[in-house]
Amino acid sequence: MTEREGLVVTIDGPAGSGKSSTAREVARRLGFRHMDSGAFYRALTYGLLDAGVGPGRWEGLTTPDLEGVGVSVQPTDMGFRVLLGSRSPEAEIRSSRVTAHVSRLAGLSVVRSWLLGIQRDAGRAGRLVADGRDMGTVVFPGAEVKVFLTADLPERARRRLTEQGVVGPSAAEIVRETARIGERDRGDSERELSPLRCPEDALELDTTYLTFEEQVKAIMERVREVDGLLRQA
Ligand code: C5P
Repeated sequence: MTEREGLVVTIDGPAGSGKSSTAREVARRLGFRHMDSGAFYRALTYGLLDAGVGPGRWEGLTTPDLEGVGVSVQPTDMGFRVLLGSRSPEAEIRSSRVTAHVSRLAGLSVVRSWLLGIQRDAGRAGRLVADGRDMGTVVFPGAEVKVFLTADLPERARRRLTEQGVVGPSAAEIVRETARIGERDRGDSERELSPLRCPEDALELDTTYLTFEEQVKAIMERVREVDGLLRQA
């Protein structure tokens, strides 16, 4: 028997594929909550760095160490707020320092198991659109709708730079960002635990030549199709 009251939609994919903005918009149209699981990994990375616990000490981390960092997740109307103590470190968790180190922390088993519990608790009621790397494969394997978003690497680099406010990024900037994203992709795809994979039965969308509206529409169509089938069953 399921404790859920509504569908779970998962959107996985590599860095810069547009998962979070797409997931947020799909959640808004459905009236569901959005879970940006990357923010959880980022908050933990930031909390550790901020407390002076550098990457050299991460291999020895224990669950009580992670609990001591003070990261928590609070449901809001639209999604989840990630807190560090009582503050919401939204800007800090997107810094280049955090981005450069987060994949390393995300490869640790103690970190993945701790966050697995937090993510599943947060998503227990359903009516959720969750984005990340292992949402459809590990965290919500029973999700009714699974999506895997991809896009060519230079296009993802261009989108990342634009998101960061760079207007008309130069070829050199795109090359540098492509290298950074490529390295993160390798870390996330080649790690032993919960590597980035396209879930079986996922709708695979290459968004290189799609507009934002087209990709949102394709996902909404899939959700309606599955919802219709479930209602008939
Ligand atoms: O999605 P975002 O780029 O913010 O994720 C930051 C990092 O967090 C990823 O590069 C990955 O290492 C890690 N992550 C993960 N599993 C998830 C979400 C994010 O390992 N479900």
